[in-house]
Amino acid sequence: MATTKHIVIIGNGIAGITAARHIRKRSDHRITVISAESDHFFSRTVLMYIYMGHMKYEHTKPYEDWFWEKNRIELKRAYVQKVNPDSHSIELDDGSSMNYDELIIATGSKPNKFGWKGQELKGVQGLYGLQDLELMEESTKGISKAVVVGGGLIGIEMAEMLRSRGFEVTMLVRETSFWNTVLPKEESELINRHIRSHKVDLRLATELDEILGDENGKVRAVRTRSGEEIPCQFVGLTVGVSPNVSFMKDAGIDIDKGILVDGELRTNVPNIYALGDCAQLRNPKPNRKPIEAVWYAGKMMGETVAATICGQPTDYDPGIWFNSAKFFDIEYQTYGTVLPELKENEDSILWDGNDGKRCLRIVFDRNSKAVLGFNAFGIRLRHEVCDAWIRNGATISEVISNLDKANFDPEFFKKFEKEVQLQTTI
Ligand SMILES: Cc1cc2nc3c(=O)[nH]c(=O)nc-3n(C[C@H](O)[C@H](O)[C@H](O)COP(=O)(O)OP(=O)(O)OC[C@H]3O[C@@H](n4cnc5c(N)ncnc54)[C@H](O)[C@@H]3O)c2cc1C
Repeated sequence: MATTKHIVIIGNGIAGITAARHIRKRSDHRITVISAESDHFFSRTVLMYIYMGHMKYEHTKPYEDWFWEKNRIELKRAYVQKVNPDSHSIELDDGSSMNYDELIIATGSKPNKFGWKGQELKGVQGLYGLQDLELMEESTKGISKAVVVGGGLIGIEMAEMLRSRGFEVTMLVRETSFWNTVLPKEESELINRHIRSHKVDLRLATELDEILGDENGKVRAVRTRSGEEIPCQFVGLTVGVSPNVSFMKDAGIDIDKGILVDGELRTNVPNIYALGDCAQLRNPKPNRKPIEAVWYAGKMMGETVAATICGQPTDYDPGIWFNSAKFFDIEYQTYGTVLPELKENEDSILWDGNDGKRCLRIVFDRNSKAVLGFNAFGIRLRHEVCDAWIRNGATISEVISNLDKANFDPEFFKKFEKEVQLQTTI
């Protein structure tokens, strides 16, 4: 008979909670999930809608509050200050400690700050968790002008949140075009235009130099590297995130940027695993990054670690890359490999809806014609279909003639598909 262990999970985000749910499905182990942020799991990706008034916090919880007791998943609200691998225990900020047989670290990310002068002023903050949202609510009361620093997915969400309340928003983006380290030129330019159509003053190739405060320690302006002063009463710092691992420093666990893990998501210390945003794979699969700080990766890692802990050692398979986001009104999905610049062996077709809101790029191998990736803007594709096309090496002609199979909206798709077929001669 299998022995029952105490599995302790630090972090109640998608990674930690998926691990807990799947360990419960597979075993009778005692499971405790600890979080400093919230009593219950909520969907971080929809935080913006609470601020915009489309949702209440209660609506962001994927499971009812009774779910946890029914499934014998103990929840504890506390901050873990220290991990002691020698005694198989952790220390909490309420002065208590807890023993574990297996420890899963799923502590997510924290917003980057790059040591700018003035970054600690009142009214300056990042956006990651519930406490940030509360602070933003408080700090934006009665303001009229805001600056968002950084041109990534969280930056554009923050700009939309601030615009939804009618504030003037200036966005400082270091790159010459929005997110052009990820998006090809045409897609990046489509998003530039879309951001500006929402009356955001998008300043490209513009870097923050300093944040200026008033006599009460509150932000009053930012200064750019070119010396321009932009008055504002709120600054959102959205210049990426980093693994949230500082509390682990003295535990003897190997850390680079994130907690280093092998294929089974094990750290160098026995019985300790790491997953989600805080984990860094020692040997990522070809063309994949060691840290993939996205929802979907956290979910898959949670399932993987549950299998391993429950006696079926499993290597993490990140599958075909997938990510989705929203740029104001434009939904974005990406599958497989779509780099900002095509590689030598790659070619692509690009369909443009000519309405500033829709486009589709399909990247394929120049020689074999196998499809490598999709970028969809304003068009929702079926995940399982695109995933299978890439996995099975479907050719570009097969994909184009079967686009309706990737279809979410039959009416719209008929027209769109015809246009793509007419526009492309592969
Ligand atoms: C505003 C926003 C929008 C996003 N939108 C998207 C999107 O559209 N698509 C997408 O794929 N991804 C998106 N992401 C990223 C995605 O949300 C993350 O990749 C994912 O939530 C990470 O999950 P996780 O379980 O690894 O960590 P988290 O969700 O960060 O959970 C970790 C938890 O651990 C807690 N914790 C940390 N340290 C301790 C400690 N010492 N003691 C106790 N508790 C601790 C934290 O407070 C947190 O609650 C978005 C992120 C943000 C912030």
